[in-house]
Amino acid sequence: MIFADGMARLGTESAFTVLARAQALASEGRDIINLGIGQPDFPTPPHIVEAGIKALRDGHHGYTPANGIPALREAVAADLHRRHGVEVNPDNVVVVPGGKPTMFFAVLMFGQAGAEIMYPDPGFPIYESVIRYSGATPVPMALKEVNGFAFDAETVLAQITPRTRLIIINSPANPTGGVTPRAEVDKFVAGLADHPHVAVLSDEIYSRMLYDGREHVSLLQYPSIRDRLIVLDGWSKTYAMTGWRLGYAVWPDAAVGHATRLCINDHSCVNAAAQYAGLAALTGPQDAVADMMAAFDARRRLIVKALNSLPGMRCTDPGGAFYAFPNIEGTGMSAMEAQNRFLDEAGVATIAGTSFGAGGEGFLRFSYANSAENIARAIDRIGAIL
Ligand code: PLP
Repeated sequence: MIFADGMARLGTESAFTVLARAQALASEGRDIINLGIGQPDFPTPPHIVEAGIKALRDGHHGYTPANGIPALREAVAADLHRRHGVEVNPDNVVVVPGGKPTMFFAVLMFGQAGAEIMYPDPGFPIYESVIRYSGATPVPMALKEVNGFAFDAETVLAQITPRTRLIIINSPANPTGGVTPRAEVDKFVAGLADHPHVAVLSDEIYSRMLYDGREHVSLLQYPSIRDRLIVLDGWSKTYAMTGWRLGYAVWPDAAVGHATRLCINDHSCVNAAAQYAGLAALTGPQDAVADMMAAFDARRRLIVKALNSLPGMRCTDPGGAFYAFPNIEGTGMSAMEAQNRFLDEAGVATIAGTSFGAGGEGFLRFSYANSAENIARAIDRIGAIL
């Protein structure tokens, strides 16, 4: 067989590799504490599960429109209006199986040899992977610990060239928990006026996961770029629905047809029951989301304090998502060495910062989607090694 060149350029998400290794160790009888994987450790709220089951019982077994059932797209538009105070036409909403398809589709739409696509570093590893796959040149935008891992508008704008086709931004961010403040987003959007050829993909999958009164600034709130803005969001994190595979994006008029054709070519539509479950999530009670966020906040405080008490580690306060991203340079270990030693010797799964780009060297990602008790045990074990 002779594979296409693109396959050699496609990367991966190491969180899945670490998860497999942690599971293998656990099956050998080792007590493994998993602070590696980025998914809520809560079940999907029962009324959402029931809506999915009811949809199956009611006979929703067939294809749906490729862009999603109209009621769901209307509920998404209403939810965006409620949360961000913005008008969104449900015809611009495309429902897809999770958050990832939107980034893949956006990159396929703009990426080709000779094009440049900018992405956060450290950042979600799939951005760089699919940019490389598309043949475009990946241009990393460095996120700095001193800025709390928020992006710096001036630095980002200075990297734009005539070849730039797309800029990917992500706040609250994976793997850092960084939140970009409104003033910085204002500057970024104002600067984009000088670069009308550049599209923006704003990954807002953690838009409801914020702490200490921080606000989520949706790029949808900037009318001047709505005609070239793609906003990615979904159900995976907010409603603990990672395995349902349900997400959406708001596409600009000129791109929504392309996005829908990509859906038709790729997966036809999202499975119908998941869409009805997603509808119940948006239109039903939100108490479960608030409860989950209260638990995450308590764990965040616990883990940040504990990490800062470990020798050689220093952890900035993550403003959103459910990750802590401490600087581990003082331990004398590289990120990969620390990941491997903590898993092999302490039975604690974490992810090396370098899995999120070269800018992640010297950092380790801890997901605090685990119980307070397990977090405390994990820190004790790591402390013993250090
Ligand atoms: N975007 C970011 C920043 C993420 O961290 C993730 C998942 O970890 C996703 C998108 C993908 O979410 P999904 O599981 O819905 O595809």
